[in-house]
Amino acid sequence: MPSSERFAALQSIQRRKPTAVEPTPALEKIWASDVFTLGKMKAALPKDAFKSIQRTIREGGKLDASVADVVAQAMKEWATSRGALYYAHVFYPLTNLTAEKHDGFIAPQSDGSAITEFTGKLLVQGEPDGSSFPNGGIRSTFEARGYTAWDVTSPAFLMPTPNGLTLCIPTVFVSWTGEALDKKTPLLRSNAAMNQQAQRLLKLLGNKEIAPVNSSCGAEQEYFLVDNAYLGLRPDLLLAGRTLFGAPPAKGQQFDDHYFGAIPERVQVFMQDVEHQLYRLGVPAKTRHNEVAPGQFEIAPVYEAANVATDHQQLIMTVLKSTAKKHGFTCLLHEKPFAGVNGSGKHVNWSIGSSSHGNLLDPGHTPHDNMQFLLFCGAVIRGVHKYGSLLRSVVATAGNDHRLGANEAPPAIISIYLGSQLEDVYNQIRDGELKGSASGGVMQLGVDTLPEFPKDPGDRNRTSPFAFTGNRFEFRAVGSGQSVAGPLVAMNTILADSLSWVADQLEARLGGGEPIESAAFAVLKQITQEHGAVIFGGDGYSSEWHEKAVRERGLENLRTSADALPVLRRPEVRDLFARHGVLSPVELESRYEVYAEQYVLAIEVEAKLSLRIARTQVYPAVTAYLGDLAGSLQEQEAIGLSPSRAIAQEIAGFAQQLLDKTAALEAALGSAPHGSEAHMAHCANTLLPLMGELRAAVDGLESLVDDNAWPLPTYQEMLFIR
Ligand code: ADP
Ligand code: MG
Repeated sequence: MPSSERFAALQSIQRRKPTAVEPTPALEKIWASDVFTLGKMKAALPKDAFKSIQRTIREGGKLDASVADVVAQAMKEWATSRGALYYAHVFYPLTNLTAEKHDGFIAPQSDGSAITEFTGKLLVQGEPDGSSFPNGGIRSTFEARGYTAWDVTSPAFLMPTPNGLTLCIPTVFVSWTGEALDKKTPLLRSNAAMNQQAQRLLKLLGNKEIAPVNSSCGAEQEYFLVDNAYLGLRPDLLLAGRTLFGAPPAKGQQFDDHYFGAIPERVQVFMQDVEHQLYRLGVPAKTRHNEVAPGQFEIAPVYEAANVATDHQQLIMTVLKSTAKKHGFTCLLHEKPFAGVNGSGKHVNWSIGSSSHGNLLDPGHTPHDNMQFLLFCGAVIRGVHKYGSLLRSVVATAGNDHRLGANEAPPAIISIYLGSQLEDVYNQIRDGELKGSASGGVMQLGVDTLPEFPKDPGDRNRTSPFAFTGNRFEFRAVGSGQSVAGPLVAMNTILADSLSWVADQLEARLGGGEPIESAAFAVLKQITQEHGAVIFGGDGYSSEWHEKAVRERGLENLRTSADALPVLRRPEVRDLFARHGVLSPVELESRYEVYAEQYVLAIEVEAKLSLRIARTQVYPAVTAYLGDLAGSLQEQEAIGLSPSRAIAQEIAGFAQQLLDKTAALEAALGSAPHGSEAHMAHCANTLLPLMGELRAAVDGLESLVDDNAWPLPTYQEMLFIR
């Protein structure tokens, strides 16, 4: 007779019904209804004020104080008319999370009454008590407090919170001395740096009237849903976001369909609810129901300006999590919640462009556009080759390490996939001559047009971490739980750096009287000769590539975060960020400190949880069962039978291993070395392998011990019953 809490959880799940949600109204009715859009501003603001804010959005810079007052007034009226009593400066600390400080609009008056109040000053600048956010030592050396400042380019919105509706104002978070304490500030700076260099190159190519060049991002978010009822029984899922134990589910077992027929409906209702909320927030979500693994789903919005896309990506993660709760699920954004099952990533699709020149990573149809495209794309190639290790380091988290290089996600070696046709074009440039143009014969840059490059997804190489997909690059190594800001900052900055190099070369050549076509060709030739080693169209999963990449191509294979995070301390990386005004050496070092600390913390928490679960949940269940088994064996022997002791012996063997490994893990936890790099290496090379060995013992027990006595919800239950 099943008696454990595990079976009680199973039964409660069986009784679940989809949570009722309002039917989604027509899209036009709800689209961005909770956003203080430019349209709403235009309707609410005097003409001059609106023009001024439009200019600030387009060109950056500081908002005029008098305009800020007018905007604040209009914003407050809109928000309070919708029932909001609070406003919050929303900011993005270095933790991948979203933080906010809520303040009431209320202003008590001397006569005992109260009015609502919101001034330009309150809109533009806030002062959160940020001392609890990790800052890598910046604030101990500078000022104790930081402040938030409205990012005018990202619209304010209303968010339902436990306080009621709250007016949320996206902000940057900086110290009083101006150091970035968040993820938004460097993103804005990296975009400005990229714009500056892109403008230079576009001008050299003879373009006039160039609108600001902006980066765009479309991020595909993968996630798992697990029923909430399991959480109380899985402290690992609850506290670490991933299972530290669990034997793989037996193949071919069809436990789910007939058993919990109504459950998939719950997921559908959940998704509809998520989309509904995102539409109201002006997030252009397009849900896809494709499940790579059981229990796994994906949501991808249409791409937007990188800065807004990043804020929206944070909103997507928040809404997924809160909505899951409402529907009796837990949404797991961890990169590898279940061993042996596909992990979750976040493909970051990235391109750059302007309103005057369109997408600069789109080959285009005129010879001039093609030359331009080859130079911009060449700049990306150069950047990824020079700073591939930086790209690896910005996706380095404890969770993502389980994914990268694990034969289902891109390898930890950063290479570029261009597709065979484009790769061929660059190879020809490298060899000094472009053959096969539309008109036949030798091709001249700036005279002929390039062949069309297929955008067909079928042609894509899924094993590449950084792939050209027709009119954009797709960075696939990003983890599902990460903010996309870090990867975007790195991509924008390495592109800015390469564009600046390209512009320098062209300037020198053009100054010497060389025509633009031959100058561009020469620069491209140099890029392909010096950086072609990063281009790889083969199987990124194969062991030959892993060997060849390092030995013949000179690419780095930074297997773990412990290997990858110290890249942030390399002089060339420090110079790169400083040169383009994206991160000062102090800001960069602070990031290294925070990420190293997070890595260590994540693994040490997991190690402690492993110990706790093995000792307090698994071991007691195992010894109790072993006792029963021994009693039964004795009874059988007493009546003259000779039963096999094999199972009991095997269980006893694993139980001993469990004891040995917990002792070893505990000792290792207590002997961490000093210094962040040594501490990270200890986590990667000592704690994680020991946890793996402990896990092997526990998972071995799971397949031997009476299912009724097993305390942890199994993979089969968590993955297939939803
Ligand atoms: P998949 O990569 O799975 O085939 P899609 O083709 O739907 O997926 O595209 C994935 C993401 O790429 C979406 O968010 C989409 O909006 C985005 N995207 C499309 N074009 C661009 C572009 N030029 N720049 C940036 N992102 C883009
Ligand atoms: Mg994709």
